[in-house]
Parts: sequence; structure tokens; C-alpha cells
Amino acid sequence: MEKIVFRHQEIETLPLPQLKELQRQKLQKTVEAALKTPFYKKRLNDAGIRDARDIQTEADFRKIPYTTKHDLREAFPYGMLAADKADVVRMHASSGTTGVPTVVYLTQADLDKAAELNARSCACTGSTKNDVFQNMMTYGLFTGGLMLHYGAERLGMMVIPSGSGNTKRQLQLMKDFRTTVVHATPSYLLHMYDVMKEEGFRPEDFALKKAYIGAEPHSEDIRKKIEMLYGIDAYNSYGLSEMNGPGLAFECVYKNGMHLWEDYYIGEIINPETLQPLSDGERGELVLTILERNGMPILRYRTRDLTRFIPEPCPCGRTHRRLERMTGRSDDMLIINGVNVFPSQIEEVIMKMPEIGNNYLIRVQKQGPLDKLTVKVEVTSSVFTDDTRDLENLQKRIQSNLQAVVFIRPAVELHEPGALPVSQGKAVRVIDERKES
Ligand code: AMP
Ligand code: ZN
Repeated sequence: MEKIVFRHQEIETLPLPQLKELQRQKLQKTVEAALKTPFYKKRLNDAGIRDARDIQTEADFRKIPYTTKHDLREAFPYGMLAADKADVVRMHASSGTTGVPTVVYLTQADLDKAAELNARSCACTGSTKNDVFQNMMTYGLFTGGLMLHYGAERLGMMVIPSGSGNTKRQLQLMKDFRTTVVHATPSYLLHMYDVMKEEGFRPEDFALKKAYIGAEPHSEDIRKKIEMLYGIDAYNSYGLSEMNGPGLAFECVYKNGMHLWEDYYIGEIINPETLQPLSDGERGELVLTILERNGMPILRYRTRDLTRFIPEPCPCGRTHRRLERMTGRSDDMLIINGVNVFPSQIEEVIMKMPEIGNNYLIRVQKQGPLDKLTVKVEVTSSVFTDDTRDLENLQKRIQSNLQAVVFIRPAVELHEPGALPVSQGKAVRVIDERKES
């Protein structure tokens, strides 16, 4: 087991009551900043909150209405911007976007804080400046790539910003630069292992010690498999773009749940049906409030991710509570090879195409370690001609239109009118076969 390293010793081991007091103080400032935005001014005033001083106790905090992804879209583009636009240095957006993206804005101070939290997260797994960090996450609008990149640099690791894909090159870089830590989705690491074998690399070609895995749900078995195949430790990292992505909750060397950095985030677990808060240890939907983000405060954000706080203290000595690995979502969002996809996005695209009828089916399967998305559509009878080229063209057009919106290229199957099953009652449009496999 790695030596326990604290980057922010005092904060990371602050007793819970003091941590709560720190949250309370920061929350006041956050509410003050939020009240300056058009969105929250209205939202909070409607709930009877006119002044940050109205929020003193936990009961006051619970008067703050939840914020949802829908709200972020409604407030697009600047309805939640709290800083002067000239002070914003970065924007990011969620990987799952229908038309209007969910965007967050960061000032330089926000970015510095995010980098520090990511550095803390890397340190908490035992990484140091002597490590070589290869970042296989997508760079760009998605927070997963850039945020952990900044954190790894902040810790002093040598960063290889390889980005996602191009597996042979990834392996060559890992070999040439003696990479010790990689950051990737768990499904990509499983895929990379197959390529490693095919290409004839040997375990002694590499110096890998750790993997940071996140951006998609995975089981303990998947973690163990990755650890066994590569002979390394794999650490779960959870984040979402609305909350700055990674550096939010990270596993320590004990790998038994992710410490939520409670000096910067307030975490709650609620019942997604009744919306009532649950107590420590109960499983429900995670709700997060980000503190001190000057560019864009978000209060009580419904993540839709299902988890629980692990009530027992962690042997590492950190007081920040641990979140159990995510067990699912309270909405219908699918995560396909790390990319968020809502069935409604797919529906919107296909319903705009006059050649397609009303019935469609979305199928998600495992293809080796990766996910495969297939969209089956019924075309109108006039489209079914003898000319297969017409059908091929239509198929490609559907594929491209879908790719433009969901950012992955699904397989598309065309069916004759009436060929797809019609459900009795509520239509079943999504068949996710990954859970059974
Ligand atoms: P994005 O906003 O594109 O970064 O996507 C965030 C979503 O990805 C989260 O709300 C989760 O549903 C999912 N996610 C991220 N990290 C993990 C993880 N470690 N385990 C399970 N799901 C994750
Ligand atoms: Zn710990």
C-alpha cells in the first residue's frame, strides 16, 4: 500500500463539525454571489430568500430550491453568470447536450481552485512529482481531460496530454516515457489491454502503477479486472461538468469509496421521488452545492446519480465523507463509452427526418469491453425502393445527423414499416443489454 500523502493536511483532516462551519461560512458568500445572477435572484426570491444572511441553519439551507440540468439550459447562456464576463477565463460543457448545452464559467481563481483539488486528489492516491501521468481522457469542452491535466501538473507530475483514442500510439507513449499513472474510462482501459496483446507488447515494456478511472459507471469487478490485467491499482474518480468535473470525489489509497472534498462541495442525498433529504448511509440521489466558484455558483444541484455516504470513518484519517461507487441514475441518461446520451436527443433527430416513421428502438450492448449503440428506425413505405443505394445514403445521413448531436456515431438499422415491436402501454424505446452481460 502507498504511503498516505496529504496535500492539504489541515483541511483534509478537519473534524466534521469544523468542516460544517467552514461550509456554512462559504455558503453565505456563495448565496450572496448567486443573488447577483438573474436566475438565482428570481429563484431565491420566490422561495423567500432575499439576503444571504437568511441562510444560517441547515433548515434555512433546505429552503433553497434544487437546481436541475433543465434550469441550466433555461439560463443559457449567461443567466447564472455571477462574475464580470471579462473575468471569465474558461467555459466547459457537459458531454451530454441537446441543442442548448449546459455550460459552466470559471474565473482564474476558480480554475486555480479546481487545479488544487485535482492535485489533492492525485496526491491522495499516493502520486508525487516523480510520476509520469498520461491523460487518455478527451480534451476539450468535456471537463474530464483538462481539469485532471491541470491538477497533475500542479502536483508536479510530468503530463503526457495524449487525449483519447489512437491506442497504438498510447501504448508506445506509455512504453517510451515509462508512464506510471493513466487516466481513462474503465472501458477504454479494457479495450487497450486487448490491443496491447494484439500488438505484442509485454508487461515489462511498461512501468504502470496506477489508473484513475471515471466518467462512466463501473462495478467493483471491472476495477478488479483492470487491476489484475495490468498489475496496478485503479482508483475511482467521480465528477460532472456542472461541478467542474474531476477533483470532486476521489478514492484514497484504501480504495473504499470516494472522499467528497467537503471544503468545496456540500453533498446531500435525497429521495429522488419525494425529494426529501435522507440520512447518512441511506442510498439515494446525490445533490451538490459548489462553494466559492465565482464565475458560476450552483446551489443544490440534482446530479441524478445514485449513491450513498459511507458512514464509517476511512482508515486514511481524512474526515471528508466518502461516496460509494455510483449504482445508477434517477433519470434515463445513458453513458456510452463515457459520453452522456439522452434518449430524447436521439428521438429529436430522427423525428425531424420525414423519411422515418414513428417507431424506433435504441439498443446498447457490450462489444468486447466497449459499448455499442444501435438505433433501429422504421422508414416510411415510400422510402423502401429497389435501389439499395438510396437506403445506404439514408442510413449514412441518419448516422451523421445523430453524430452531430450525441457526439458518437451509432450503428443505424433501417426497418420496414411495422417491423419493430410495438409495446403495449408505455413504449419501451431503450434496451440496455449491458447490465445483463
Ligand atoms: P459529464 O458532465 O459529461 O462529465 O458527465 C457526468 C456524469 O458522468 C455524472 O453525472 C455520472 O453520471 C457519470 N460519471 C462520472 N464519473 C463517474 C464515476 N466514477 N462512476 C460512475 N459514473 C460517473
Ligand atoms: Zn481515505
